[in-house]
Amino acid sequence: MTNSDVLIIGAGPVGMTMALELARYGVKVRIVDQAAHRTDLSKALIVGSRTLELMDRAGIADKMVAAGYKVEAAHLSAAEQTIGRLTFDGVQSAYRFALMLPQSETERILEESLAKIGIKVDREVELLNFNDNGNTVVATLRHANGTEETTEAAWLIGCDGAHSTVRQQLGKEFMGTTSPIDWVLADVHLEGVPRIPEIHAIWHTDGVLVTFPIEAARYRIIADAGTVPDGEAQLPQPTLHDIQNILDKRYPGGVRATDAVWLSAFRISERKVADYRAGRVFLGGEYRHARRLQSGVEAGATDALARTGNVAAVTDSMGHASAQTTMIYQHQGLEQLRAAINERNNENNREQEKLLGQKLGQSDNADAVGEAASA
Ligand SMILES: Cc1cc2nc3c(=O)[nH]c(=O)nc-3n(C[C@H](O)[C@H](O)[C@H](O)COP(=O)(O)OP(=O)(O)OC[C@H]3O[C@@H](n4cnc5c(N)ncnc54)[C@H](O)[C@@H]3O)c2cc1C
Repeated sequence: MTNSDVLIIGAGPVGMTMALELARYGVKVRIVDQAAHRTDLSKALIVGSRTLELMDRAGIADKMVAAGYKVEAAHLSAAEQTIGRLTFDGVQSAYRFALMLPQSETERILEESLAKIGIKVDREVELLNFNDNGNTVVATLRHANGTEETTEAAWLIGCDGAHSTVRQQLGKEFMGTTSPIDWVLADVHLEGVPRIPEIHAIWHTDGVLVTFPIEAARYRIIADAGTVPDGEAQLPQPTLHDIQNILDKRYPGGVRATDAVWLSAFRISERKVADYRAGRVFLGGEYRHARRLQSGVEAGATDALARTGNVAAVTDSMGHASAQTTMIYQHQGLEQLRAAINERNNENNREQEKLLGQKLGQSDNADAVGEAASA
């Protein structure tokens, strides 16, 4: 007799989304996380229309929208000149905006929604190892006081992040590359921003600077800090002074950064595993995906929402698997992800070409850029 139909390892945004959705299908879920608390960082900030549509199905889109900040356009400039203003009002969705919602808030809403349906995240519970015996998965968990527990589930889903124990125990490689460009990130308050809060991307000879409004006067800033030679260590965490220097150079108009909430440096990786299932163990979350900036939660959570039906379908009372349905988990995931990435890349390329054409006065199709460069 199993303790749960599905044991989810990791209560990040993907694990909690997965738990919420599986519960909606009537699946008995247990979700554990080694951390004592959910994140308090803004990490994955932008929530797109498609994610909100799927979160609506899970009944939490309204809460997310209420807690976030709606951005209706992105302002693009270079050499202190406006290049364009891209609006989201042409998006075929009920959500014609980009929602700025700190990951800490996304996780809060998910955890509270789980609690409402009687699912409590088991915190300070770490997965040590598991054994898939063909009929069930027997997992060893360690509690905060050091005691170990053995639990049995029909299925196990690893949503335990980029350094996943589940992935490593399955021996699946997190294949891909890390871009050799250093980026700095700041979650700060800005004084003197000259326009209404929109996303603002600025091309400068030193590199790109992008600001995202989070809430009144609070902004996420990311700035590229240059290409680094092979093997060189990642930049240390920037100081508020470093961020101010970047703003002074790249952001016209004397904007001042104060009250840092979070400062960080990062590089962008594009990695994923080749397949997402081994026997009774599924992989979800971070390592399923080619990670790009702003894609981690979006890809993971939408994927979880899209795929829980398949997991639920194979989780009958006996825990029996239908080989056909479980394979869907793999193939749909990969194909949808590939399609989404290709679509996003193509869209980005098309927009960039049009913007460039417009700036050079060569575009005969300026409408498609959204509103003209007048903001
Ligand atoms: C410092 C930082 C900054 C980021 N900034 C951005 C950003 O600006 N934009 C963006 O889009 N994305 C950003 N990301 C990425 C984004 O946070 C991730 O894509 C997202 O959190 C992935 O969600 P997840 O649920 O798959 O995994 P995670 O959020 O990593 O959650 C995994 C959970 O599993 C738990 N866990 C791990 N191992 C075990 C174990 N053995 N047993 C039990 N529990 C375990 C962890 O405690 C964690 O809570 C950032 C990530 C980091 C770390």
